[in-house]
Amino acid sequence: MKGCMVATWKMALEGIQEGMQILNGNGNLHRAIVEAVKRVEDNENFVSVGYGGLPNREGYVELDAAFMDGDTLGAGGVMAVQGIKNPIELACSLSRCSRNCFLAGKGAEEYALSQGVEMQNLLTPNAMRRYESSLKSNLKGDMDAYDGHDTVCVIGRNQSGSIACGVSTSGLFLKHPGRVGDSPIIGSGFYANSIIGSAAATGVGEDIMKGCLAYSIVASMGSGLSVQDACEHALNYHI
Ligand code: ASP
Repeated sequence: MKGCMVATWKMALEGIQEGMQILNGNGNLHRAIVEAVKRVEDNENFVSVGYGGLPNREGYVELDAAFMDGDTLGAGGVMAVQGIKNPIELACSLSRCSRNCFLAGKGAEEYALSQGVEMQNLLTPNAMRRYESSLKSNLKGDMDAYDGHDTVCVIGRNQSGSIACGVSTSGLFLKHPGRVGDSPIIGSGFYANSIIGSAAATGVGEDIMKGCLAYSIVASMGSGLSVQDACEHALNYHI
């Protein structure tokens, strides 16, 4: 069996190229996914993830990320965290824990510090400029929930058939502080099961969560539907 990776959006291209090199080298699936996501988190030109991400309505970049191991069904995530450039690293390490796997806000930031993560300001000058000009259109009521946000979702499978996935996002632009979308919610923004497959989502989290879409797609694949049919079935039912 060959290793493979798929991801959302063009921003993930370089990341999955690097991830594939890891997969084809030592076959470390988790590392391949984490490095692929980190490439996007680190790049300030990708404005909806990680460093330089979309600020919340108070001007703070607040991030969500999650990781799931399809062999063990171990999942972990951090939500509404500030000052952490690579939340995917934390999500991956939390997915190996048996308790306290999903951490929010201050508690997640404390966990990051305990892991030796250095806090940093994620609001780049460009993000600040975008924030200031968008605040004005938002006040005029010109923005809607679909304006300018995306999640990087990376799904991979190694040569032994293990499947895992990782997601990372700054969520909705000008969101309420503390708002959490689908991305770090297991079964909504992501799900992986090595026997069946994996799914991950991007779009307005409040809508995706109503259908627990990632789990619903994987469950449909488990009942025998093809990937395409499982997605259509879950989405049509949801709509
Ligand atoms: N699903 C993300 C959220 O609602 C945003 C996105 O994927 O565009 O936070």
